[in-house]
Amino acid sequence: MKSFELAQPGSLDAAIRASGESFVASRWLAGGTDLLATIKERVDAPERLVNLKTIPDLASIEVTAERTVIGALATHTEVAEHVGIREHHPALVEAILATATPQIRNVATIGGGLCQRPRCWYFRHPDYPCRKKGGATCYAQEGENEFHTIFDNGTCCAVHASNIAPILLAYDAVLIVRGSGGEREVALDDFFVDPDDNVMVENILAPGELITRIEIPAAARGWGEAYVEVREKQSFDWALTAATVLVKASGGAVEDSRVVLSAVAPRPLRLPRVEALLRGRVDEEALSAAGEAACAGATPLEQNGYKLALVRATIARAARSAISRARKG
Ligand SMILES: Cc1cc2nc3c(=O)[nH]c(=O)nc-3n(C[C@H](O)[C@H](O)[C@H](O)COP(=O)(O)OP(=O)(O)OC[C@H]3O[C@@H](n4cnc5c(N)ncnc54)[C@H](O)[C@@H]3O)c2cc1C
Ligand code: SF4
Repeated sequence: MKSFELAQPGSLDAAIRASGESFVASRWLAGGTDLLATIKERVDAPERLVNLKTIPDLASIEVTAERTVIGALATHTEVAEHVGIREHHPALVEAILATATPQIRNVATIGGGLCQRPRCWYFRHPDYPCRKKGGATCYAQEGENEFHTIFDNGTCCAVHASNIAPILLAYDAVLIVRGSGGEREVALDDFFVDPDDNVMVENILAPGELITRIEIPAAARGWGEAYVEVREKQSFDWALTAATVLVKASGGAVEDSRVVLSAVAPRPLRLPRVEALLRGRVDEEALSAAGEAACAGATPLEQNGYKLALVRATIARAARSAISRARKG
C-alpha cells in the first residue's frame, strides 16, 4: 500500500481546502469500508485522505412534515434504526438491512454507500488495467461476467452496487453537494455518469466536491413500498438483481407507481413503461407483463442471462408486496 497523509478537518470549509481540486491528490474518507479496500487492493493510491468523521453535524437525521434529511455521514445502522425513517421509509430500511453485514452497516455511511466503487473483480485486481482504470480493454465483456450488467454494457459492464440508491431514486431524493464554489442540489437521477460518457468515474462529483446530505420530499411518504433483492448468500454479499416498487393505491386500485431496477446496469434504472403497467387493477397477468417489460432492451452477456428470470421474479414480488402494503395503509 502506498503511504498517504491523513487530514482531520474540523469544518466543511477546512475539509474542502484540504481536499484540493485534483482526483489524483485526495479522497474523502467516511467509514472507509470501501475506500481502504481499494487502497489495500492497490487499485487506488491517493496522496491524502480527508477524514469526514471529524466534521460536526454531518451525521444528523431529521424527519419533519416537509422532508426527511439524512446527513451523508449517518451510518446505515443509524438510518435503519431511526424511528421516523422506520415509520415513513420502510423500503429504505429493507434495503439497508439487506446490505453487507451488521458490522459493516455500523460503520458504512450513506454518502459512502452512494459513492462506492464498482465490485467488478477485474477492476478490483491490480493486474488488470481495464477501461475504468484508463486502459483499453474491458476484461469482463469477454471474461467472467456472471455478476455484471445486462443493460448498457457496451463500454463497461460493472453494475452500480448500492442498495440504497434505487430506493432513494424512487423517492425522488435530492443530494446536497458542497465544493469550493458553494452548495448545489443534484437530483439523484442526475448524479450517476454513464460509462459511455466517462468510464473512469461513476458520478458527477467534481474534484473537491462532497455530498453533505440527502433530502427526501414528504410527497414520497404513505405509499406502499417494497425492496426485494436476490443474492447468492444471505449475508456479506451484493445483490444479483433488485427491484424497488412504490405504489399509491385507492379503493384497491393503483393510482400511481414508481419502479426502479438495480444491480443490472451501471446505474439504478427507473422504468416508466413498467410503472404504466402497474396502475389500475393489478392482477397476476399485469405482474407478469410488468416483469417482461422490465427485461425489454436487455443485452445479457455470455454468463449472466440467468438475471432475466431474476428480474421478472423480483419485479413481481416487489410489486405484489408494495400493493398489499398500500391496501393495508
Ligand atoms: C463484504 C461487503 C459486503 C457489502 N455488501 C453490500 C451490499 O450488499 N449492498 C451495498 O449497497 N453495499 C455493500 N457493501 C458496500 C458498502 O455499502 C460500502 O463499502 C459502504 O457503504 C461505503 O461507505 P463508507 O462510509 O465506508 O465509505 P468509504 O469507504 O469511506 O468511501 C467510499 C467512497 O465514497 C467516497 N465518499 C464517502 N463519503 C462521501 C461523501 N459524503 N461525498 C462524496 N464522496 C464520498 C469516498 O471518497 C470513497 O471513494 C459491502 C461491503 C463489503 C465490504
Ligand atoms: S466491467 Fe468495467 S470495471 Fe470491469 S473490467 Fe470492464 S471496464 Fe473494467
